[in-house]
Amino acid sequence: MGNLVPVMFTLVPLFIMGVFVMLIGTFVVRAFQVVTRWQENNSEPILTVPARVATKRFQVVGAGSDSMVGTWYYITFEAMPDGLRQEFAVNPRDYSGLAEGDVGQLTYQGTRFQSFARSRPAAPPPPVPPSPDWICSYCRGHVPAAETKCPSCGSTCRLEPVGT
Ligand SMILES: [Zn+2]
Repeated sequence: MGNLVPVMFTLVPLFIMGVFVMLIGTFVVRAFQVVTRWQENNSEPILTVPARVATKRFQVVGAGSDSMVGTWYYITFEAMPDGLRQEFAVNPRDYSGLAEGDVGQLTYQGTRFQSFARSRPAAPPPPVPPSPDWICSYCRGHVPAAETKCPSCGSTCRLEPVGT
C-alpha cells in the first residue's frame, strides 16, 4: 500500500495529460477536415439541378440554457429525375421558407448549399382560342384561317366562322 501512492501520483497526471492530448488531437483533426472540405468545395463547380425537398431536420448544439446554444438546419434534396439524395446545411431562412415536396432548382457547390429557387405551381394552360377557320357561306367549303378568300370559289366576303 505504501508503494501505491507514489505510483498514483505518476499515473494520474499522465492519464489526464493523455486525455488532454487526445481531445486536442481530435479537435485539430476535425478542424483540418473542415478546412480541407472548405477548400475542396471551393474547387468544385457550382451546379444547378432540378430537385425536390425530401426531408428537413434541425439539430440544437451547445450545452445548457445560458451557454452558447445554436441550431443547425439541414435539408435533404432529391435530384430529379435520378433520385440522388444529398443533405445540405442551410440557413434558417431557407429552412423555414421551404417545405417538404417543394420542387425547384437547387444550386450547390460540392457539399455547400447555395440556393434553391422554388418553381411556381404550373399555371393552367391559356384557354384555346376558338377555331379561327372559316366556312365559305357560298360553297360551304372549309377556309383555313390564313386565307382571306375561299380557295374553292374565290369568295372574299361570304365567309363565316366555323360552327355558325
Ligand atoms: Zn367558296
